Amino acid sequence: MRFTLFGSDVGSAIRPLAGTAWSRMASIGRAYSCALPGQSQARARLAQPFEDRFFFAGEATHPFDFTTAHGAHDSGQRGADEAMAAFRNRHPLGRRGFNVTAGARSIR
Ligand SMILES: Cc1cc2nc3c(=O)[nH]c(=O)nc-3n(C[C@H](O)[C@H](O)[C@H](O)COP(=O)(O)OP(=O)(O)OC[C@H]3O[C@@H](n4cnc5c(N)ncnc54)[C@H](O)[C@@H]3O)c2cc1C
Repeated sequence: MRFTLFGSDVGSAIRPLAGTAWSRMASIGRAYSCALPGQSQARARLAQPFEDRFFFAGEATHPFDFTTAHGAHDSGQRGADEAMAAFRNRHPLGRRGFNVTAGARSIR
C-alpha cells in the first residue's frame, strides 16, 4: 500500500490533462547548460569579455545561479554593466557607436 500526503487513493482522483515534450522540440534543444563534473569553473571563463568588445550573458555564465531564469537575468545585467564600463573607458566624454544585441553586446 502506498501512502501519500493526500492519501493512498489520490491516484484514482487524477486524470491526465496535458503534457509537454520540450526536450524533443528543435527550438528548445537541451534548454540549459550542464558543466562536466569538476569543470564548473569554466562558467567564469565563458563569462569573460572578449577584447573588451564582446560581452557575454546567459544562465551558463552565472557562477552559481546557472540553469535558472534569475541567473540569466542577473548575468544580463552584469554583461550590460561590463559593456557600459568598457564604453566609458574608451569614450570618457561619451560618443555614439554603442551596440546592444541579444545574446552578445559589442561596442565599436
Ligand atoms: C522546461 C524548462 C523548465 C524550466 N523551469 C525553470 C524554473 O522553474 N525556474 C527557473 O529559474 N528556470 C527554469 N528553467 C531554466 C530557464 O528557463 C533558463 O535557465 C533560462 O531561460 C536561460 O536563459 P538564457 O537567456 O541564458 O538562455 P535562453 O532563454 O535559452 O535564451 C537564448 C536565446 O538565444 C537565441 N539564440 C540561440 N542561438 C542564437 C543565434 N545564433 N543567433 C541569435 N539568437 C540565438 C535563442 O533562440 C534564445 O531565444 C527551465 C527551463 C526549461 C527548458
